[in-house]
Amino acid sequence: MSVFSGTRPFRFHHLSADSQLDNDCFPLARHPQGQGFSAVSQSDGGSLSAGKQLQDTCLFSNKQIEIHAVGAAPGGEAYLLLASDFSLLYDSGFGFSAPGLVCNVERLLGGRSPDCLFLSHSHYDHASGSAWCKRRWPNLPVVAMAHAKRVFERPTAVASIRDLNQRVAQERGLTFDDADFLDTLAVSHACSDGELLELGSQRFEVVEAVGHTRCSAMLWCEQQQLLLGSESLGVYLNQDEVMPAYLVSYEGSLRAIERAQALNPKWILLNHRHVAEGKDARRFLVNAGREARRAAQLVFDGSRAGKSREVLTQELKRLYYTKCAQEIQPEAAFDLNNRLMLDLLLKR
Ligand SMILES: [Zn+2]
Repeated sequence: MSVFSGTRPFRFHHLSADSQLDNDCFPLARHPQGQGFSAVSQSDGGSLSAGKQLQDTCLFSNKQIEIHAVGAAPGGEAYLLLASDFSLLYDSGFGFSAPGLVCNVERLLGGRSPDCLFLSHSHYDHASGSAWCKRRWPNLPVVAMAHAKRVFERPTAVASIRDLNQRVAQERGLTFDDADFLDTLAVSHACSDGELLELGSQRFEVVEAVGHTRCSAMLWCEQQQLLLGSESLGVYLNQDEVMPAYLVSYEGSLRAIERAQALNPKWILLNHRHVAEGKDARRFLVNAGREARRAAQLVFDGSRAGKSREVLTQELKRLYYTKCAQEIQPEAAFDLNNRLMLDLLLKR
């Protein structure tokens, strides 16, 4: 397939260092004890000790691109793609862990700003940190689907993003002093399906992936055969397990999975800390399609057989809230998504 669309590509180049703010201006979320956030690796959920190499954050490397996990709190994943001629931040995690994210990125970039931030969708655990990134790097382009831009323009949506951040911070024993700062959430470059982001010598095509949300998208780099995934594909749990995550469109998720399969990526960056390669990537997409259909069939058959909402909720939970899922998703978040998915399927 061609990566060229009719529209002019967005071109992002290295930003100059003087566009950055002083470190002192940067707001820090604080532990109750008063110490600021440190850079943390997602693998251990704790602070990155002085002796530990930043290499620990590297999830993937071919000769041209490295992908680093730079999110500073489990569940608030964010990735930095690094090449000799560009850097791209993919998602930005929670607001309350954003100072740690910024710190991780700065250490990898030697204080430079990333060239671009792309948001795979507008949910609080993926997009909140963008407000802090923008504060740290005022010239940073924040790219997301046009619908995400509209979401951030709705005060009620921002209020719920703030509320969810506060709730999760509280659950983790953190105070979140700078929650008001989420009022500055914004998308600077609204994009649509087929548009291109040009970063250094690489082109990334925006692939709309409605399903998990209306504003979901993936990025496809044909040159590298690398797909930066979306939760609309489902959530990777392990080689055999995928949790469906369509909250607004079942058909949309199936379409996103089919589109990903048609691209035949050599690598897929999955939103919760995994890069699937080759056979593993193909297997993930097969599992994703199967589980998306299985969840729907369970609800369709069950409701035809007169099963109650409560019974269907429990059946879905038994199927998908596995040990693996429990490690990456708090129960309350699973229950909420599960309810939304069930509502969506029962409406049909
Ligand atoms: Zn989400």
